[in-house]
Amino acid sequence: MFGLMQDQPLLVSSLIEFAARHHHDAEIVSRRVEGDLHRTTYAQAARRSRQVAQALDRLGLGRGDRVGTLAWNGYRHFELYFGVSGSGRVIHTLNPRLPPDQVVWIANHAEDRVLFFDMTFLPIIKAVWSKCTTVRHWIALCEADALPADTGIEGLQSYEAWIGRESGRYDWPSFDERSACALCYTSGTTGNPKGVLYSHRSTLLHAYGVALPDAVSLSARDCILPVVPMFHVNAWGIPYAAAMTGAKLVFPGPALDGKSVYELLESERVTMAAGVPTVWLMLLNHVREHKLKFSHMRRTVIGGSACPPAMIRAFRDDYGVTVLHAWGMTEMSPVGTVCNLKLAQRELDPDAQLAIMAKQGRAVFGVEMRIVDSEGKELPWDGQASGDLHVKGPWIISRYFKDEGGDPLIDGWFPTGDVASIDPDGFMQITDRSKDVIKSGGEWISSIDIENVAMAHPAVAMAACIALPHPKWDERPLLVVVRKPGAEASREDILGFYEGKVAKWQVPDDVVFVDAIPLGATGKMQKVKLREQFKGHRLPGA
Ligand code: AMP
Repeated sequence: MFGLMQDQPLLVSSLIEFAARHHHDAEIVSRRVEGDLHRTTYAQAARRSRQVAQALDRLGLGRGDRVGTLAWNGYRHFELYFGVSGSGRVIHTLNPRLPPDQVVWIANHAEDRVLFFDMTFLPIIKAVWSKCTTVRHWIALCEADALPADTGIEGLQSYEAWIGRESGRYDWPSFDERSACALCYTSGTTGNPKGVLYSHRSTLLHAYGVALPDAVSLSARDCILPVVPMFHVNAWGIPYAAAMTGAKLVFPGPALDGKSVYELLESERVTMAAGVPTVWLMLLNHVREHKLKFSHMRRTVIGGSACPPAMIRAFRDDYGVTVLHAWGMTEMSPVGTVCNLKLAQRELDPDAQLAIMAKQGRAVFGVEMRIVDSEGKELPWDGQASGDLHVKGPWIISRYFKDEGGDPLIDGWFPTGDVASIDPDGFMQITDRSKDVIKSGGEWISSIDIENVAMAHPAVAMAACIALPHPKWDERPLLVVVRKPGAEASREDILGFYEGKVAKWQVPDDVVFVDAIPLGATGKMQKVKLREQFKGHRLPGA
């Protein structure tokens, strides 16, 4: 017997219409590439999203056609999220930090028909436009009078002129909620990037999940600043979850340095922010250096890479800000777990709480997890056993776009490529990426654990631990360190710092100092490059 409730599809267009009706004057503030601050509201964003939908109809784009963007976080990008998907097309967010030949490869693979871009990226567009064989329309996210005349790009027009022709009176179409709404490519550290194709249904369910109190906890009382880019897994779904809850949004545009982010946090009275650890490192350095405080920010979501416990402690003890450590991946929309304490854990002493908060956290309802050994046998949730982390749920990938790579699932579970343990309370802790674990004499060393110790050293700005081949032990750890500006620390100081913090055999065999650690297009340390750079390095005793 079926239930007798209305069978209304979950569609992205409903989010912006809800926000416009119930939170019409809630603000969307953006730092523009022009440098100024732009202010709009959900009501205006909804009208302009409808104009986008009408203008795409006028171009003759069909259902399911892909529409690319190469843009920072800002109100126009936000309007495209809803106008493109709401009208039945697929928004494909391209990562502008990728090398131009990869941008071309991805745009061609996605078969983008239209490409929107911020003026900052005009040089990239000039380099790639003639090679993007499916793109017919190039639309610069600017006013008509800001459009340069002599670009040579065929079919170039300005966004404001393009939507300016439309009335904004538009009825969103209704269709199957399983239809695709957004496309995002994985970073492709090995082989070509693969497309992850989100559906309206998965996106709405994910937005509900993200907004839950034990996840990111979003509400109409919040003002949220996503530093995480809208070109990286839809800014962790925050634009959708913000529209669902009516939270005020603050978009930082291209200015992601500590000073610019801090100024926005203060002037817009931001209550929570979200981003990768490298961004918060810049912010913390800025506030420390200038002896500043956060007047309004109470929470910050940090994920994308392991957040060092020293950072969680600094935010909490020095600035009164709770770090919500979160884990996920492009294939998971992306949110999988978020670290929030349970009731009984609120009574623990601050150090015991910190040990929990440093974990990647508990699954959001909708995400099932398991850990398995090399034979695929499920491991216990005892906080000790660690194995391959598998996930499943309604916002987790079933297949890649165009079936690249074949069936990725194992018995219906998606293997994340991460190695983790899960404690009896359900708190998951990533030990490593399976490719990055250091296998020493039959035992595993977690590169994240070794990095976390180094990151607590006062002279260390950034640290990466990689495996080097070893004749006796197979592999041994090498620590690569960037010192803080002006700070002194020798190899011996750093190695001495490990005493009593990890088992003796886990202490790195050597430390090398570098000016910078290579970061990928999404701000993660590129260990593949580091391994390449140090492959000839001789460890003492090797
Ligand atoms: P991406 O799909 O580019 O977002 O990368 C996903 C991968 O980033 C995951 O599989 C993890 O290896 C890593 N990752 C994301 N969040 C965390 C976290 N909080 N701690 C450790 N690794 C993380």
